[in-house]
Amino acid sequence: MQRFQDKTVIVTGGGGGIGGATSRRFGQDGARVAVFDMNLEAAEAVAAQIRADGGQAQAFRCDITDRPGVDAAVAAVVERFGPVDVLVNNAGWDVFKPFTKTEPAQWDKLIAINLTGALHMHHAVLPGMAARKAGRIVNIASDAARVGSSGEAVYAACKGGLVSFSKTIAREHARHGITVNVVCPGPTDTALFAEYKEGAGNPEKLMEAFTRSIPLGRIGQPNDLPGAILFFASDDAAFVTGQVLSVSGG
Ligand code: NAD
Repeated sequence: MQRFQDKTVIVTGGGGGIGGATSRRFGQDGARVAVFDMNLEAAEAVAAQIRADGGQAQAFRCDITDRPGVDAAVAAVVERFGPVDVLVNNAGWDVFKPFTKTEPAQWDKLIAINLTGALHMHHAVLPGMAARKAGRIVNIASDAARVGSSGEAVYAACKGGLVSFSKTIAREHARHGITVNVVCPGPTDTALFAEYKEGAGNPEKLMEAFTRSIPLGRIGQPNDLPGAILFFASDDAAFVTGQVLSVSGG
């Protein structure tokens, strides 16, 4: 029996680097994977890879900032695959600029995607999980939430908000058999990180600085993240909730 056999899993931002690696790992471990992304083409490519590997997956276009769209996509998952057992809130976006050079409209967009979007997803799945007295939620924050990160002030604030939101939802919903935990990636080699490097102006120097500052001596790869995410989503973590784990090379 595979670890996530007969489990329905939603991964938001599932068409991206970390979300794609996570979706594929769930697929290999037997889950029915709902790959959510505002970029349907990217989500479809991931779902197609999972099916080609013998797994079950379907792509869903879902912009997590659009509440009616979130509700419709979650309802479509329940109809296609059955009730949601696991939600991984992974979709994210960033602007890489000193705070005083950012505009309020950018803060609104950052908050809408990185914080409010995750709230919509929780709001859409929690009642069903509570009714079934079972559910696992894994939220992808960032080491920027723990230690700060120059050029990412509002993003870091959103991720910090997501951490404290997760701890609170973990307390509120523990009696319903739902666990909520957080994984904080460090710098990880994805499209988002490529934009960060560009924003920094001198990508080579930045990489050298990261490599020097990370005890394990390299930035992360998308495949470094699914181990921790699937642990929190699994029965092995049945007695673990409200916790935050950095996967960042130390
Ligand atoms: P990525 O750009 O490869 O993937 C992000 C995905 O989210 C994309 O497919 C994008 O289309 C999707 N997305 C963006 N806005 C969306 C929306 N409104 N609705 C639905 N989908 C949306 O980036 P990644 O590095 O894989 O990021 C995954 C998560 O990891 C994010 O939450 C990010 O903040 C976090 N993170 C990444 C790093 C890093 O260095 N890469 C570090 C810390 C935290």
